[in-house]
Amino acid sequence: MPRIDARSLARELLAFNTINPPGMERACARHLGAMLEEAGYRVAYHEYAEARTSLAARIGNGGKPPICFTGHIDTVPLGATAWSHDPFAGEMDGDRVYGRGSTDMKSGIAAFIAAAVELAPDLARSPGVLLVITAGEEIGCEGAKFLAGHGLLEPAGAMVIAEPTANYPYIGHKGLAWFEIETRGVTAHGSMPEVGDNAIVKMAKVIGDLESFRFPVDSHPVMGKPTLNVGTIRGGLNTNSVPDEARITVDTRTVPGVDHAHLCKSLAALVAPRGATVRQIVDCAALYTEPQNEWVQRVFDACAPFAGGRPEPKTITFSTDGADLKRGFGGAIPAVVLGPGEPRLAHQTDEWCSMKRIDESVDLFRTLVRDWCAV
Ligand SMILES: [Zn+2]
Repeated sequence: MPRIDARSLARELLAFNTINPPGMERACARHLGAMLEEAGYRVAYHEYAEARTSLAARIGNGGKPPICFTGHIDTVPLGATAWSHDPFAGEMDGDRVYGRGSTDMKSGIAAFIAAAVELAPDLARSPGVLLVITAGEEIGCEGAKFLAGHGLLEPAGAMVIAEPTANYPYIGHKGLAWFEIETRGVTAHGSMPEVGDNAIVKMAKVIGDLESFRFPVDSHPVMGKPTLNVGTIRGGLNTNSVPDEARITVDTRTVPGVDHAHLCKSLAALVAPRGATVRQIVDCAALYTEPQNEWVQRVFDACAPFAGGRPEPKTITFSTDGADLKRGFGGAIPAVVLGPGEPRLAHQTDEWCSMKRIDESVDLFRTLVRDWCAV
């Protein structure tokens, strides 16, 4: 079995332009699938839309479910600022490999594929490994939602989400629920506001109502409090008219125990007296595993040498495919977010990943596979 060098694979993956939108992950997914098939994995491709390709690759048939490693192959756009490195060429400078998706999260995918391919010959008669590589994560976890919603996931017993954490194991993240709130009014000439009904004035009152909104949960012991932020506002077409429409979007970050459908109803009830309507536009559940979980403790053991001591229970600020995949696996499995990228560089101009961290991740993932599969 030819070994896969994770650094080289990361650079290969950067050459696929998977900027989302439009994503177009098929070529990248097929490239990885071919590699995994050659290593003895059973590979299945799943497209939620044309060329929006996720893949699941499985090896092993032991007495318990496999360990799952997951990552997304789409990336965010390049942004307006010019890059000083080619975002698709895998340029290296010292310990850094530059490129869109280097930190978030093609290096993480390269690391778990390198470990999974290297160990493949030992895994056939063990619980084995399930790799879930998704499309469309950056806009609402579309690939993961499709896999979970259509029952396309084989069971797994534990999950590593290789998003950028600089190899620190995080035991989850807040949920994310975005809402659009709309007010309507009646337009009239700006010189006669008494004839109209001003949608922006209504919206100003709605925003005041939102400021006083309290989530119906206590602060979470690890995640802290849920939050609400009004992120955008639009309304009115011209200065000399009474606006008949205004819209805001609201970003809430939730903790376990906050049901998003219920949250939507609560917000709708809060703003209904203003005549406003609420629609949920993005929905990603919170992800959390109790730090006392026995497998999480073993992950902490494995990470200690790279984390400068035994990890403390922490959750990460961004959200992942993890909650949707966990639902697809039936709900109760432990999960950690753990990967080589630098969290602060995700989505930035001149994004890069440390190659030393990529090597560390391969070591870590190898350790976790050996531990899970007893090989
Ligand atoms: Zn990501």
